[in-house]
Amino acid sequence: MPDTKESDGAEAHQYQAGSTTHREEDQWKHRPPYRLNDDGGKDFVAKWKGKCHCGAVQYELSRDKPLASKYCHCTTCQRMHGAPFQWAAIFHKTDINFTSGHHDLGWYDPSNKSTTHHLPCKVQCAYCRTPIMDEGRNMILLFPTLIEGINSKQGRDAFKATCHMFYPQRVVDIKDGLPKWKGLSDQSPLIDEETGDEISDSEPEPKSKKQKR
Ligand SMILES: [Zn+2]
Ligand SMILES: [Zn+2]
Repeated sequence: MPDTKESDGAEAHQYQAGSTTHREEDQWKHRPPYRLNDDGGKDFVAKWKGKCHCGAVQYELSRDKPLASKYCHCTTCQRMHGAPFQWAAIFHKTDINFTSGHHDLGWYDPSNKSTTHHLPCKVQCAYCRTPIMDEGRNMILLFPTLIEGINSKQGRDAFKATCHMFYPQRVVDIKDGLPKWKGLSDQSPLIDEETGDEISDSEPEPKSKKQKR
């Protein structure tokens, strides 16, 4: 789908990235997840569509369901989402095609508290400030509440979370029977949802394959 907003892009670029795409700091525009499909998306079959609150940023997803879906209770997610916890669905960077507003984005790198496009970073609509996703080095973590039809049975089933992370930092108890990790999933002890204590002998085996973000 051609990006009809391209013509007023010059003004939008000033939000973050200057008016040229040739600078090193603008190279993100030519890489996934921000590179539009070169054929205008003809080979990209949209299974889901999402948009920010104001509608400036719109995207499609080519997978029926995320690679994984998790709730994160860490204090950074609580603060940055203004919510008791974050819901993130993991996709490959090539699974997303922005149909609008992919140059109208703002960044925030929580580790350096900077607004440069330094990974991993938070990505939001530069106009309405809706959080769009976390962009990791290898994957994206989308926020499913932006997706059309997410509140249908099909949406709930496809994006169903499988665990809670950083559960000791929670502000609300969620007794849903899902695994609750002290830190990152599969890389930290499990927490008993009834007692809030660590489950002894749940310390994971040291893994050579770290979770990639
Ligand atoms: Zn917006
Ligand atoms: Zn978090």
